[in-house]
Amino acid sequence: MRGLLVGRFQPFHLGHLAVVRHIVHDRPTEPLVLGIGSAEDAYTPDNPFTASERFEMIARALGAEKITGWLAVPIPDIHRHSLWVAHVEELVPEFSRVYTNNPLTRTLFEKADYAVEATPLFDRERNEGASIRRLLREDAPGWRERVPPSVASYLDSLRATERLRSFGAPSAG
Ligand code: NAD
Repeated sequence: MRGLLVGRFQPFHLGHLAVVRHIVHDRPTEPLVLGIGSAEDAYTPDNPFTASERFEMIARALGAEKITGWLAVPIPDIHRHSLWVAHVEELVPEFSRVYTNNPLTRTLFEKADYAVEATPLFDRERNEGASIRRLLREDAPGWRERVPPSVASYLDSLRATERLRSFGAPSAG
């Protein structure tokens, strides 16, 4: 049976990669679905990258690690939490286990009787989406050390710094 890891991956960073490595190491034969959350969001300060760009980051990072047996599925938000798990089930091939540290995601899947597992945090002070987006916007050197090298070169090809600058200041958080 499959496992499901839900994230926004804005961008896919070293913390996300560490989680995938951890899951694949623990359950090498269990296929893993990466659910690309808030898939409809793009070109905003908090959600700068499209679902297809986030897919590309995942494919490049996992390809470089020679991690196979995964698939990624875009999951747009629906603003009805009580219906969200059914919405995910409609989009994602059958899965039995959910990996998340997000309290809302945990609550909703537990309520629907899924096995939900927390995963260890990897250098969370550094590897955190909002701070990486801020560093990218400032083109501060640290952002490159917080994403896999294949993602850094892909972000360069997207002119991610220019894109983030064009949005102006991000919201707090
Ligand atoms: P995220 O990209 O911030 O995190 C994804 C996972 O990676 C999380 O489990 C997180 O703990 C882990 N992670 C992040 N940094 C890490 C680090 N340094 N080390 C190790 N692990 C790390 O995404 P998220 O916020 O968890 O995404 C949840 C998605 O589900 C969102 O898109 C949200 O909108 C969606 N959602 C939607 C609804 C709805 O539409 N009603 C309801 C619930 C959730």
